[in-house]
Amino acid sequence: MPSITSLLDQAATACAKARKGIALTGAGISVESGIPPFRGKGGLWEKIDPMKYAHIDALERDPAEVWKVLFLGIGELLGTAAPNDGHKELRRLEELGVLQTIITQNVDGLHQKAGSRDVIEFHGTHAVLRCMTCQRRYEWQEITITEIPPRCPCNGYLRPDVVMFGELIDMSLLQRSQMLASQCDLMFVVGTSATVEPAAYLPVIAKRAGAFIIEINPEPTPLTHHISDVTLLGPAGEVLTQLTERVARLRPMPQG
Ligand code: NAD
Ligand code: ZN
Repeated sequence: MPSITSLLDQAATACAKARKGIALTGAGISVESGIPPFRGKGGLWEKIDPMKYAHIDALERDPAEVWKVLFLGIGELLGTAAPNDGHKELRRLEELGVLQTIITQNVDGLHQKAGSRDVIEFHGTHAVLRCMTCQRRYEWQEITITEIPPRCPCNGYLRPDVVMFGELIDMSLLQRSQMLASQCDLMFVVGTSATVEPAAYLPVIAKRAGAFIIEINPEPTPLTHHISDVTLLGPAGEVLTQLTERVARLRPMPQG
């Protein structure tokens, strides 16, 4: 087994050469911001049955219950969460010219809060509410929640603008993500269990197109031995801090 130092060096060398790097991130990158992931140790699914509450059928059947069990708690958690070193270091990799775009499965907005400029919210965003009848969108601050579920002036129920199980990814976001994956020369895969399709397929597209894949996760995933060129086992904040330091030495900040 190569040492973590030699793996970090390999990853840093690939970063220094990259011209079209992208990142795919998942719930794991926000764990150090205090937001639990869905799967794995401490994951939300240890407490809540996803098919009972996170499926579109559940929302349509009993919106009040899904609001009470899922949306209100998540809204509270995300309202106070701040970006951690993992988000900040990905931003730094953008400044260093390594990363162009982040495709995130997260709905927490923390990459944007960290300053990343091109973020594709593959599974939507919790920061926006959408009317289930007229599709009008609202920021949470625009709404005073006096009943559960809150309602739109058209009387339709509001819901967070996220992709639930059983729903499709926005076609234009899917197409752009697939195109970026097929054209990138480097892909970071950070904090995702790589089990939720179609996001989990993006690293496969990138690999087939010849990209170098750097995976960061405390646990191995289905990608680890087949798709990833380097797997850095550890929490995203710590690993990315070590990696970015090395990249900055090999590839100083672009001038101007
Ligand atoms: P997941 O919950 O399936 O898996 C989380 C992964 O993160 C695991 O592989 C775990 O080993 C890893 N992990 C745990 N701690 C980590 C750390 N400190 N650093 C790096 N990795 C760490 O997550 P997923 O693959 O993103 O899929 C779940 C779906 O749930 C996503 O589609 C997303 O929409 C949603 N989700 C979002 C948030 C959020 O917005 N923060 C939180 C929970 C779930
Ligand atoms: Zn409406």
